[in-house]
Amino acid sequence: MNKVKKMYVLDHGVQYNDKSTMLAGYNAATFKEPHKLSTYIKIPIQTFLFECEEGYVLFDTACDPDYAVNWPSDMLERSPYEYPVNGLLPDRLKELGLTPEDINTVVMSHLHNDHAGCLSMFQKALVYVNDKEITTTLRNYVLKEPLDVHIPSDIRAIIKADLQWRTVTEEEFEVPVADGLTILNLGSGHSWGMLALRVDLENSGSFLLVSDALYSSENYGPPVHLPGIVYDTVGYVRTARTIEKYCKEHNCRILFGHDMEQFSTLRKAPLEYYD
Ligand SMILES: [Zn+2]
Repeated sequence: MNKVKKMYVLDHGVQYNDKSTMLAGYNAATFKEPHKLSTYIKIPIQTFLFECEEGYVLFDTACDPDYAVNWPSDMLERSPYEYPVNGLLPDRLKELGLTPEDINTVVMSHLHNDHAGCLSMFQKALVYVNDKEITTTLRNYVLKEPLDVHIPSDIRAIIKADLQWRTVTEEEFEVPVADGLTILNLGSGHSWGMLALRVDLENSGSFLLVSDALYSSENYGPPVHLPGIVYDTVGYVRTARTIEKYCKEHNCRILFGHDMEQFSTLRKAPLEYYD
């Protein structure tokens, strides 16, 4: 089997969050300590770019560059975003000599605001998304039902962009995207429908990019620890077990969605990559 030539980890800065959103019940008050304090933490915003025989593949698209205008005010207050110089996705691609038009395939783990913010830029790409994730996002948008952390401005942008979609349906578990890249359909849990991506590299071995199916090693455990933001708790636990079993069977290293400790150890684009 041919493998992925290079995997780049792109650093898009941080979002601030109360730790209990990442880890439900974190530092909960007790009888003896009824006034315990919350902790405000930074979580990394990351995407992954793959150089393959078939072209370039991108996993997730980070935050909207116009977030300060487009995000709801309560989101800006609760979970503000901050990025370094060249930290926006188009600028990170530019550092590698690329533009959004050069990307052949985009795999969306899900459509939350810190993952789908630049999706509308990829009009030349085939976009993989979980079928329930896209249909529920569009349904709830048009019916004005709760959108969780799916942002109306992102949804309007992807509708307007007239993207080329490939939905991953319930009966599909493993979907090959390119040589050395395979989607795993995790189903509902953190959001309405989650996709993970298995990556096989010659020298660096195999990874499973799980995105927000597991924010961090603290959620993974074992035992599994639920986050504060979760759509389907039963699905979340089932997903964590699926990931654990799959990674043991296939010798994959898990890359978590927002694990600052793990992220700080990863090689970062443009200078470093995995091969
Ligand atoms: Zn999410």
